[in-house]
Amino acid sequence: MSEHEHTKTDGLPSDLVAPAPVLLERARPRNERMAAHKIECNACPVLCQISEGKSGACDRYANQGGRLVRLDPVVMLRRTLATDEPALVPFLARGADEPFLPAPVPQDEVFVTGIGSSTTYPDYKPAPFIVASQVRGVDMVTVVTEGIFSYCSLKVKIDTDRWLGPEQANVRCQGEVVGHVTTAEYGSQMLSLGGVHHLTGGSKKEGRVTMQTMQALGNKQAVEVTIDGGARVVVQAGRAPVVNGVEEQRMRVGCGSATIGIFAKQFWGAADEVVVVDDHITGVLTEHQAGRCLDMRPSGLKIRGRKSTPGRYFQVAHPGTGWGGTDLSDPLAIVEGWDPELAWPGQRLLMTSTTGEHAAYFVLDDDLKPVPAPMPAALQQVVERIGENCEPALCTVLFLGGAGGSLRAGVTDNPVKLTQAIKRALVNVTIGGAPGYVWPGGGITVMADVARMPDNAFGTVPTPAIVAPIEFSMRLADYQALGGHMGVVQPLADVLRTGAWHDDGAPQARQWVVPDAANTWPLLP
Ligand code: SF4
Repeated sequence: MSEHEHTKTDGLPSDLVAPAPVLLERARPRNERMAAHKIECNACPVLCQISEGKSGACDRYANQGGRLVRLDPVVMLRRTLATDEPALVPFLARGADEPFLPAPVPQDEVFVTGIGSSTTYPDYKPAPFIVASQVRGVDMVTVVTEGIFSYCSLKVKIDTDRWLGPEQANVRCQGEVVGHVTTAEYGSQMLSLGGVHHLTGGSKKEGRVTMQTMQALGNKQAVEVTIDGGARVVVQAGRAPVVNGVEEQRMRVGCGSATIGIFAKQFWGAADEVVVVDDHITGVLTEHQAGRCLDMRPSGLKIRGRKSTPGRYFQVAHPGTGWGGTDLSDPLAIVEGWDPELAWPGQRLLMTSTTGEHAAYFVLDDDLKPVPAPMPAALQQVVERIGENCEPALCTVLFLGGAGGSLRAGVTDNPVKLTQAIKRALVNVTIGGAPGYVWPGGGITVMADVARMPDNAFGTVPTPAIVAPIEFSMRLADYQALGGHMGVVQPLADVLRTGAWHDDGAPQARQWVVPDAANTWPLLP
């Protein structure tokens, strides 16, 4: 069993320095009756006792020949990777001197992520990787760890007008409640999935299914969820949502009122009236301010629903998966009639949805009844322009985790200093190398787009909790000032050769991954 003397004194006068505790890599067995061929993993509170040749409950650690080993590699970002360079390379035993790279890697070309890095549990240990490198001549340090998050959730944005379910409705996976519908946003329906309440506050099965759902979505896999009183949706980060078996194509160009405003000039002359059907705001051109500014003749059309302001109507129908996120299959169902004082035979009416996927053209007969007619080419062009202005419908999955707790002790003996340094923008927080948005206020509540992270960045432990990578990058001088674990800072070259500071030639590997092209490089002074 390897041991490491804890020698750090934080610069205190020697008479104030207490005797340093010894950090054991693995604690003595809690259970004296533990079979001799088993070893205990203490990388999380589950404390698996693992038999020779077997892996622990999370499948990340195993007992190989009486030695606790990590099965998956540490993921390291590399700006570019030559095709002939192996992506996966085992770490060397400490002291080994064989060359491990065809050529030295420039220090600002590599970033060590928390994926596969292991944890600080039981919390007083320094983070597994505290990596020193020089970037543009500045001494930098990155503290790298895997967080075990009970307080975490996924915020899922689903680009669709279709109604997925009532706000606050339960979202289920395999019959278990794993989250809820939250406030709709412009052109998107939003879900909040996971969270401590479902992970640990319900039944064991609810916690397990919640954890598996979060892991799968975080790892960019497809998951089918059902919404109480609503739709069945297949969600996958970076892919189109599938609502009740139908793949969504377009995200609306805007609400009905916005669509009227944007295209008013293009409608002008081609139609006498245009209705853009929308579950949120249905727009009526000649009554809308856009039509009035174009001096359009009032059509006399009367629309059902609650009038908000001129030419803008709420609640024209029930929400659904038909025209413009309503339950309409026949748009004329929202037409109450025409004012005979204002309307005229031959009036040309276009009705369209906010995506242009649904559109119909009518001409009023002598009784002021709408008669379907072939769409004139000029109007067809505008409908197509509406479609052209819709972006592809996608699902976006953001991971949101609370890192303000114990994992901070892996960074510094004085955790509040890390929080304060982040708030002062001295520390760049990344999640698997992807940019993290740290919420204002207390703690380190950090959010990242899983699509910008390497694949399979999330794991689980059966407490149940999500295992997610996190990295804190800063200038070395700032790290020292916040009470960092300076005694275990490793040069990048050593990290590339032999892995974490506490591993003594553990048979783990490192894996090069080229980061998402949209990410800023995480390590900049
Ligand atoms: S579940 Fe926890 S204790 Fe068990 S192998 Fe995984 S990290 Fe180790």
